[in-house]
Amino acid sequence: MSEAAARREAAAVLLPVASGVDRWVMPEAAMNAVVIADGGEALVVDPGTLPERAAELRAAIELRGDRVIGVVITHAHWDHCFALSTFADVASYAHPAVIAELAAHGEQQRDAVLGFASDETADALRALPIVAPTTPVESPHRLRVGALEVALEPIGSAHTGGDLVVHVPGAGVTVAGDLVETADDAQLDDSTDVPGWLRALDRLAAHAQPLLVPGHGEPCGHERLEHHRALLAARRRC
Ligand SMILES: [Zn+2]
Ligand SMILES: [Zn+2]
Repeated sequence: MSEAAARREAAAVLLPVASGVDRWVMPEAAMNAVVIADGGEALVVDPGTLPERAAELRAAIELRGDRVIGVVITHAHWDHCFALSTFADVASYAHPAVIAELAAHGEQQRDAVLGFASDETADALRALPIVAPTTPVESPHRLRVGALEVALEPIGSAHTGGDLVVHVPGAGVTVAGDLVETADDAQLDDSTDVPGWLRALDRLAAHAQPLLVPGHGEPCGHERLEHHRALLAARRRC
């Protein structure tokens, strides 16, 4: 394949969200890996499940001429963070609870996914090292990607024991992880804190950028926060 053809192929899978922000839909759980890029630098939010696929994403980013300078994990669910080993050479940022959760329950999560994975995916899942993020983010933290300012906001317990969102004011985008879903309803599990999630929705409504990138599904506006609020408020009452 010529380099020009390779560039076209890479461009075909990086879906534009806004200027400087693209997403790449991972086959596993149709999770949105998000790439924030400017001036030859790139930050990846949620590298997905399988290191091999994250390596394809990284190759596409590098083919565009961008160097990955860091990774952000929005929360400790396997479909968002199991591929982190592909980026072991750069800093990785997450809520401190993510690091604790992966140490305590990473293997449990792996066993749970193996219960429904295809044979091919199961082999890759068994082989992958579960890697914890290097840099706990306990309070709001700013990064620079080229000339773009990126703000990491640790939310705390909500969808999981430690969620974090990523604001890109220059692009009008907030990457919300699974605090916002458009592919499905809001997803709850044993680690979910419903009152915490309702508070998180209030914070997003007050401070988030106009365009939200959910963990799964198409980008959306703040109206989706209202949808989740109604659903979670009903859960709290039962
Ligand atoms: Zn999740
Ligand atoms: Zn998810």
